[in-house]
Amino acid sequence: MAGSGKFFVGGNWKCNGTKDSITKLVSDLNSAKLETDVDVVVSPPFVYLDQVTASLTGRIEVSGQNSWIGKGGAFTGEISVEQLKDIGCKWVILGHSECRHIIGEDDQFIGKKAAYALNEGLGVIACIGELLEEREAGKTFDVCFQQLKAFADVVPSWDNIVIAYEPVWAIGTGKVATPQQAQEVHVAVRDWLKKNVSEEVASKTRIIYGGSVNGSNCAELAKQEDIDGFLVGGASLKGPEFATIVNSVT
Ligand code: PGA
Repeated sequence: MAGSGKFFVGGNWKCNGTKDSITKLVSDLNSAKLETDVDVVVSPPFVYLDQVTASLTGRIEVSGQNSWIGKGGAFTGEISVEQLKDIGCKWVILGHSECRHIIGEDDQFIGKKAAYALNEGLGVIACIGELLEEREAGKTFDVCFQQLKAFADVVPSWDNIVIAYEPVWAIGTGKVATPQQAQEVHVAVRDWLKKNVSEEVASKTRIIYGGSVNGSNCAELAKQEDIDGFLVGGASLKGPEFATIVNSVT
């Protein structure tokens, strides 16, 4: 753990679940024993946010999986920051690779969303990460830095941002980055923040890892100095396994 504050573990449920499966998942989370030294956030699909915020009994916070770029209005299919706050969310995930590469959101669009959410008081889990071909072409750092710069250019402050490094080739593939590969990028990200934002932001910002994190590989990853937590997809849909990941804090 290198950033300041607590280890941070987010569960990104993506477009998964039904009323029944989510009732079971929340009940498993409510009965799980979670380390107190960890910030825990879950991110259900929008339609279940109300159900989840109403039924979580512990200290787990809730996040949206995306948010609109500005104030709500005539934007069919979108969810505004104000609506997320209204329903009890404290966070929003922005720049997830599925939004970048499947939906086509670009760096500037994502940066604007982050600035708006932060200005309205929502915490932002800001995702960055390279595609496999970019890694193979030796462009991992360039890609991550460019995505970071798009956030740095517009965000009002870094107080409420957690950076999630998620190599796209590791997301949902079962192909986790090695602890060394993740640590190497986390150090580079921290160094970039130091040079381009400030020493203070570099030392206090939490940089979490995402991409095929599970109950078996989390402990080794968590030992890395610059891994300050995880963003978990598939394994966050199983309450006991998610609890194991939360409790991997070292
Ligand atoms: P995964 O997803 O854990 O299923 O690889 C991580 C993410 O997309 O945040």
